[in-house]
Amino acid sequence: MKTGIITTETYASHDTGPGHPERSDRVTVIINNLKKFKKKFIWKKPVNFERNFLNITHSKKYVDLIENSFPKKGFSNLDGDTIISPGSKEATSDAVGSIISAIDGVLKNEFKNAFCAVRPPGHHSERQKAMGFCIYNNVAVGANYLITKYNYKKIAIIDFDVHHGNGTQDIFYDNKKVLYISTHQYPYYPGSGSDKEKGKYNNVLNIPLPAGTTSTEYLDAYEHVLKKLKEFKPQFILFSAGFDAHKDDPLAQLQLTSKDFYEITKRTLISVKNDCNGKVVSILEGGYDLNALKESTEQHINALLEFN
Ligand SMILES: [Zn+2]
Repeated sequence: MKTGIITTETYASHDTGPGHPERSDRVTVIINNLKKFKKKFIWKKPVNFERNFLNITHSKKYVDLIENSFPKKGFSNLDGDTIISPGSKEATSDAVGSIISAIDGVLKNEFKNAFCAVRPPGHHSERQKAMGFCIYNNVAVGANYLITKYNYKKIAIIDFDVHHGNGTQDIFYDNKKVLYISTHQYPYYPGSGSDKEKGKYNNVLNIPLPAGTTSTEYLDAYEHVLKKLKEFKPQFILFSAGFDAHKDDPLAQLQLTSKDFYEITKRTLISVKNDCNGKVVSILEGGYDLNALKESTEQHINALLEFN
């Protein structure tokens, strides 16, 4: 089988204004690079999805507020750094539709695993709050979709973005069907993510790392992620795939190289091979140096391809 790449052109219309780090070139460089290896992939668009799947993750009040907040022209702010424009409405919906499309594709055997190249990202978005460039929590909607539509009981979300996914943690803090694991720079934005935050059912594992953490130190710490995964025995893996822990990233100070994202992905897939049978969907979060993002996504996806 092949690896699915889920994307659409509408992400490019999510205009965040001049000088904003979360810009449309991010997805464009990923897609243009992956087109070089086109034969390895099955390309798929996001699906239209039933809106109630959004309302499991976010409150109906929040979804209504967001749907009515997109400006007819110009820009509008959801928080200090979450900026929306007229094209953001469709892009925001398609980012959610992408993870749903990817999950359906894996479970219908259209492809073995999948990567969603989307924006806006999602992991900072809480049940009732947009923040940190994120509007809907795409990966959380995906996990709840697996639980509700397909009756999955053990889903692991692995978030290797350099920032803590406060939103995802918030949404699943008291949900024993979801294990949320995050490695992140700490202390740092958004402030959460201490190792004392463990979830109501010990279903949260935070691995805070100091600024300057090297590849070797990171991969040593990642052994704790693998151990926790083996104990949990997930039936499905979702990656919150941010690439801003790269040493060239302008927004943070971890020191990973592009190749490390291959190692992280490969080691994860080996550790859960007997539990989830390779069922993996990955969705883009952060990553703000365009060349680092291009190289790192290629490395991450190379590991997905190996597990086909
Ligand atoms: Zn980030």
